[in-house]
Amino acid sequence: MPERPSDTPLESAPKIGIVSLGCPKALVDSERILTKLRAEGYEISGTYAGADAVIVNTCGFLDSAKKESLEAIGEALDENGRVIVTGCLGADEEIIRAAHPDVLAVSGPHQYEAVMEAVHDHLPPAHDPYADLVPPEGIRLTPRHYAYLKISEGCNQTCAFCIIPSMRGKLRSRPANEVVAEAERLVNAGVRELLVISQDTGAYGSDLKYAESAYKGQSYAARITDLCRALGEMGVWIRLHYIYPYPHIDDLIPLMAEGLILPYLDIPFQHASHDILKAMRRPAHQEKTLDRLQRWRTVAPDIAIRSTFIVGFPGETEDDFSHLLQWLEAAELDRVGCFKYEDVEGARSNALASHVDEEVKDERWERLMETQRRISAKKTAAKIGQTFEVIIDDADVDDGAWGRTYADAPEIDGRVNIPGSHDLRPGDNVSVKINSADDYDLFGEPV
Ligand code: SF4
Repeated sequence: MPERPSDTPLESAPKIGIVSLGCPKALVDSERILTKLRAEGYEISGTYAGADAVIVNTCGFLDSAKKESLEAIGEALDENGRVIVTGCLGADEEIIRAAHPDVLAVSGPHQYEAVMEAVHDHLPPAHDPYADLVPPEGIRLTPRHYAYLKISEGCNQTCAFCIIPSMRGKLRSRPANEVVAEAERLVNAGVRELLVISQDTGAYGSDLKYAESAYKGQSYAARITDLCRALGEMGVWIRLHYIYPYPHIDDLIPLMAEGLILPYLDIPFQHASHDILKAMRRPAHQEKTLDRLQRWRTVAPDIAIRSTFIVGFPGETEDDFSHLLQWLEAAELDRVGCFKYEDVEGARSNALASHVDEEVKDERWERLMETQRRISAKKTAAKIGQTFEVIIDDADVDDGAWGRTYADAPEIDGRVNIPGSHDLRPGDNVSVKINSADDYDLFGEPV
C-alpha cells in the first residue's frame, strides 16, 4: 500500500461526535462504536460544531439517568441537529421519540451494527484506503494506562429494583480466548491496569458451560477463576468489578493472596437486613457474609472491599436500617457508595408496599454516609507511615501528581496525592510513603 504523508488531511472523511453517558459498561460500548467508526474511515470530532452527526450513548438505569440522557439528546440536537441515539434508554424508543421526534435513529444497548447502519444511512463513509488504520487495541476513552475489559453482557439474576436483565438480556459471556487476546492487545499497547467488568462478573462463563477455547496454543476455560489466573500472568494490575456474592467468589481470594490479581473486590451487597434483601431478591444471609469477610481477610489480609447499598427500599423500617448501620460497623468495608431508592419504570420493586418518604430516605442516606465516613477515616489514618505502590493517574497538576493504590479504582474510590512531585507521568508505578490522610484520600511522597 503506498504511503500517504502524515500531514495529508482526510478532507472528505465524515466526522462523528460521541456523547457517552452511564456506567463503564456503556463506556465500553462507546469504545467499540468509536473503533468501528475509525476502522471505516470516519473521523471523530470533539465538538458539536465540528461534527457532521453526533451519537448519544444513553443510560436508562434510574429515572434521573433517563432525564440526563434526554437532556443530552436535546443539547446535541440544538448544537448539531443530526443525532443518532443508542444505549440503554434506546431500548425504549417511544420515550425518546416522544421527547425528541427529530433524532435520526434509535437503537438499544450494545447494538453496534444498528448504530453503524444508521451512520451509513445518513453519512456514507468516504472511501479512503488509509482511513481504516486503527491501532490493534481499538479506540479507547480511558487514559492510556488503564482500560475496561468487558467479559460478558446481560445478567441471569432477578434483583427486584433492577431492569438491566430486561434491557440487556440474559448472560452472554465472551469466549475466554477472545478476552485473553483483547487483554494482551491492551497490555501490549501500554495498559498497566485492567478493570474487569460485566453486569455479573462472578457468573462469567456459566452460559458457555465454562467452555475451553484456545489462544496461541494454550487452552483457557471460561470460568472467572481461570480467567483471572490467565490475566494475572500478564504482569499488570487486574481489578474486579460488579461481583454478585456467589459462594465460588471465595475461590478468587487465594489468587489475591498470590498477587495474581489485586486484593480488591467490588461487591454490591445492597443491604444487610434479611427482610429487605429478601424483598430485593438478593442473597439474604448477611450474618454469614460477615463470617465470609473475616475468612477473606484471613487469606488476603490487605483485601479492600468496595460495596454499594440502597437506602429507603420499599418496606425498609427503622429497625432494618439500624441493622444495616450495625452491619456496616462490623464489616468495616473500605469503600461504600449509597443510593436512595428510586422507582424505575419496569422494575418489580415499584409494586411493593410501604414506599419510604423522601425525607426519610435523605436522612438515612446522611446517616449511612456519616457512619462510613468514620470507618473510612479510621482506615485511611491506619495507612499513615506505610508505603504503597501507586499508579499515577495525573501528573499535570500545579501542586504535584496523584494516583491510586490497589485499594482505589479509578473515578469511584480515593486518591493518593503526591504534592511537589513534578517528574512523574501517568501510568508510572511508584512507591509512596503515606504522610497524612483525610477521610477518603491519602497524601504522601515517593520513596
Ligand atoms: S445482579 Fe446486578 S445487573 Fe443483575 S439483576 Fe441484580 S443488580 Fe441487576
